[in-house]
Amino acid sequence: MTPLPTCKDLIVILGLAQGTSPYVPRPIQTEAQRGTYMQHYLDDLYSGSGDHREIVCAEFCAKYLPAAVDRFIDAPIIGASEGEPLLECFELFNAMFFVLMSIYHIPYFTKYMGSRQPVASRGKHLARIIAERMIRFAVFCEQKMENIGMNEEEYAESLTSALTLLNLLVLVFAKDQIPLSVDMRNGLARHLLKWMKSSNRTLRQNSYAVYTSMKTTKSSGAVEDAMRKDLKIRSKCGWPGCTTTVNMKACERCHIVCYCSPEHQKAHWNSQEVPAHKPTCFKTEY
Ligand SMILES: [Zn+2]
Ligand SMILES: [Zn+2]
Repeated sequence: MTPLPTCKDLIVILGLAQGTSPYVPRPIQTEAQRGTYMQHYLDDLYSGSGDHREIVCAEFCAKYLPAAVDRFIDAPIIGASEGEPLLECFELFNAMFFVLMSIYHIPYFTKYMGSRQPVASRGKHLARIIAERMIRFAVFCEQKMENIGMNEEEYAESLTSALTLLNLLVLVFAKDQIPLSVDMRNGLARHLLKWMKSSNRTLRQNSYAVYTSMKTTKSSGAVEDAMRKDLKIRSKCGWPGCTTTVNMKACERCHIVCYCSPEHQKAHWNSQEVPAHKPTCFKTEY
């Protein structure tokens, strides 16, 4: 029987820790290889139990997210053997990007991105870096399509996932500071307008979503406000089934989950009936 994928496996694959992992049978030499190992790991993690996955992702986000985001921001080193044409793909769609796509729904992710702590300040650049790399990737794809008639579908899926992440980041930052310059927003908008006419439905929808989030951030629309609030503070008691929304107190350790009463907090901590809070509760430095 293969052991369950752990948080340690994840950081070994990403190169954030030394050590061994069943997912890294050979020392990692190239980013392509790291990406392959990561895909195997994520396939296993996502085919297993949802409760186990939540625990692994919570631990990873609480302890290693700042380091992982830093690694993504400092573009991966592309070995000569991997060839120049891959650069445009790997600087955006590398192993760290696959991880980001798998964890952005975890509350710790938005806690980190929205945090005012200095340790999280590099995280604020993530939106800018993704936007920059997406523009470069788009230009690369458009040239390929013109020159060798590459199919639009081939890159629509990749762009769609990058847009999903970018949209979330734009919304998280909307109130304080959007880390996208005017030039960059205009550059991105040109591509978004083009993709909004794409024959691929999800690419069209996601482009529209990012386009409108970028436009409406200044006016602070009601929908965005509600979404931001929901991302930062859980508006409902963390004890499943309880619908109380007033006099909530956040868990003092993680500041991720809120409770209406000490009774519900205690019941949730070591619960046997529903996924307990204890295994996903971590103190963070952000
Ligand atoms: Zn409650
Ligand atoms: Zn907690």
